[in-house]
Amino acid sequence: MQISLTNKEQFIFKKIGKAADELNVAAFIIGGFVRDKIIGRASKDADIVCIGNGIELANKVAEKLHPQPAVTVFKNFGTAQIKLADIEIEFVGARKESYNFNSRKPFVEPGSLEDDQNRRDFTINALAISLHKDTYGELVDPFNGVKDIENKIIQTPLEPLQTFSDDPLRMMRAIRFAAQLDFRISDTTFAAIQKDAERIKIVSQERITDELNKIMLSPKPSIGLDLMSKSGLMQIILPSMMALHGAEYVDGKGHKDNFYHTLQVIDNISKNTNDLFLRWAALLHDIGKPATKRFEKENGWTFHGHEAVGARMVPSIFSKMKLPLNEKMKFVQELVALHLRPISLTKENITDSAIRRLLFDAGENIDALMMLCEADITSKNQQKVKKYLQNFELVRERMKKVEESDQLRNWQPPITGEIIMQIFNLKPSREVGYIKDAIREAILDGIIENNYQAAHQFMLQKAAELNLYPI
Ligand code: ATP
Repeated sequence: MQISLTNKEQFIFKKIGKAADELNVAAFIIGGFVRDKIIGRASKDADIVCIGNGIELANKVAEKLHPQPAVTVFKNFGTAQIKLADIEIEFVGARKESYNFNSRKPFVEPGSLEDDQNRRDFTINALAISLHKDTYGELVDPFNGVKDIENKIIQTPLEPLQTFSDDPLRMMRAIRFAAQLDFRISDTTFAAIQKDAERIKIVSQERITDELNKIMLSPKPSIGLDLMSKSGLMQIILPSMMALHGAEYVDGKGHKDNFYHTLQVIDNISKNTNDLFLRWAALLHDIGKPATKRFEKENGWTFHGHEAVGARMVPSIFSKMKLPLNEKMKFVQELVALHLRPISLTKENITDSAIRRLLFDAGENIDALMMLCEADITSKNQQKVKKYLQNFELVRERMKKVEESDQLRNWQPPITGEIIMQIFNLKPSREVGYIKDAIREAILDGIIENNYQAAHQFMLQKAAELNLYPI
């Protein structure tokens, strides 16, 4: 097996080998770095395992480099890290781990290379390359990891049920690697995930969400999301997604399966953006459908108001997932709430004020919203897809024109609440809100022009209706 290293990598690995020889310990590159090199994927960090003390080895390596880099020591973990310009290197002594069913924390003791490879999660992650001068560059592959890379298979090195029971996060990791690498999880390994799915509950939400986000950021997230669904993990981690499953029929009328529709929407949007939260908006855009589903004799299946119901579900989902409850959540919430609006603008006889209103409501998120709407087209009929895309193109053109004349992006009405309070000597009150909203609506509806003078005149009229006059 030929592994191609850059000159810088060769230089540093030779130095590590030399330092290890001087300390008389065996050292190996191990894990993800080796896997990614064989696959031909970019790899940034390298893990070095030595049969001895990892911190001592890191210090010895640092002495050999000019300028001498800092060594960051994590005493509790017995690891040390050196950061160089293009690569981060982590040093650790080989470990043997044993688990007790009732505790998540393994009992750890120093071990051999074999012990260390046995505790790895998947055969493709258990590969090691020797750095010792006599065996430099030799691959140590006790579980046929290279063959699994060639066959694109993810499986555990030891008995899968035991591996997952020891650390249930590995179930999410298996699915994450399947999604990132487009590999298949072996039947026995997948059957073990299905059997042990419940045990994911003992893992912290932060670690689970970390893996889920990596699935969401993979080239085709549907691979991972579908595996989460089929393994039973989705039911535990994000049950509201499972409620999207299935197509019901009444009087011969059915609706599409909203789970697979959603997966298609995420794959579509992932071709155009790496923004994690825009992908989350795609995942949740129809989350309000199960709660709003009705069958009406005349219209068939309807989901009236699902966008508003869905937007209201976003905070609790973010909170459960330990995702940030900040402007990122508001962004997702806004896109879910607005995701039908551009469709309504594809109808005929749409006024400038309808376009203006959406520009105002979406503000700086308008481009993300349009991207979501285009990804939401999942018809199998290519003629229809073409027509819908053309319709959105027309909406984009209209928006451009209105924007050019009105400059509505990030727009604020020319008269603020502060100004109204000053002019009429008011405290914050219902009247101030009433006048402020009336000005905004009049501008959006094109009743008055978008400038201070017109807004001021209109404000005086509205205030007079409330018997308010300037002081
Ligand atoms: P990525 O860098 O894409 O997150 P990775 O596998 O390259 O993935 P880490 O998650 O840092 O990087 O893991 C490094 C190595 O440590 C893995 O290749 C694997 O050998 C081992 N490992 C990590 N997590 C676990 C785990 N939960 N159980 C067993 N081995 C693990």
